[in-house]
Amino acid sequence: MEQIREKAYAKLNISLDVTERRADGYHDMCMVMQTISICDELELELTDTGRVQVKSNFSFIPGDERNLAAKAALAFLEAAGKQGQGLLVTLNKSIPVGAGMAGGSADAAAVLRALNRLYGAPLSPEELETLAARVGSDVPFCVRGGTVLATGRGEKLESLPALPPCRFVVCKPDFSISTPELFRKLDQTGLRCHPDTAGIVAALQAGELEPIARRMYNVFEEVDDRRLRTVKEIKGVLLDCGALGAIMTGTGSAVFGVFRPDADCAPALAALRRDYGFCREAVGVERLL
Ligand code: ATP
Repeated sequence: MEQIREKAYAKLNISLDVTERRADGYHDMCMVMQTISICDELELELTDTGRVQVKSNFSFIPGDERNLAAKAALAFLEAAGKQGQGLLVTLNKSIPVGAGMAGGSADAAAVLRALNRLYGAPLSPEELETLAARVGSDVPFCVRGGTVLATGRGEKLESLPALPPCRFVVCKPDFSISTPELFRKLDQTGLRCHPDTAGIVAALQAGELEPIARRMYNVFEEVDDRRLRTVKEIKGVLLDCGALGAIMTGTGSAVFGVFRPDADCAPALAALRRDYGFCREAVGVERLL
């Protein structure tokens, strides 16, 4: 049976703003998002089982439709008129789970790109992004990749000039923070500060790294939660080791620092590895679709 491989790249939030709490309970967001080189590796194989199955090296993530990779596969097969086609998706995961790095959404997006390639591109890039929005709010961004301004629930995308060359150091502490819980706490405390998103977009257009790194801001860091103390500690280490800026990505718990492209990231990695399990270096990845 035919086999196809695809990479599922993680994302970082260069900024994250919550602009409004909508009547339907969802929040309007405004985020500058960046695809990075930390990735899961996927293998897809058409089978004659008549079912979509997902296997993974992380035993604790679901293998059924609760897995976004399976949800994406079913949505694609239906849209392409291939209902009932058997498929085995093997996930070799490196993106930490519950990190705010969109690991599940990246897997779903990789499945959509791979299946569209396998079937000879029955869906246009726009159709693929529309289908992706039905799978999850971050999936359209993960399908497209690169540097993007995302609004609405995260599904309205505007591609931006690529981030100037730089290095990232990403660190995830050994706990996760639940996304609904953080939104609830944000609604309780309200927001005093917002990121200068327009300033970040202008700096991207000018191709200047420092003004971008200086303006990086995530409103979720304001929430009253004792776990955010650890986030602040990690940010402190990154800044002490030469990062131009450091913030939490998404609803955490991963934190990252931006370094000049010629910077030595080894001291930051060594300092963080003493206390935290996941510490990796990464670079930006440009638009995928
Ligand atoms: P986001 O940045 O979108 O908030 P996250 O990094 O916080 O994402 P994920 O790693 O995507 O969170 O996964 C969160 C939950 O989604 C986990 O509880 C996990 O069981 C479930 N999940 C579903 N599909 C996947 C997948 N393919 N990979 C990882 N987790 C998945």
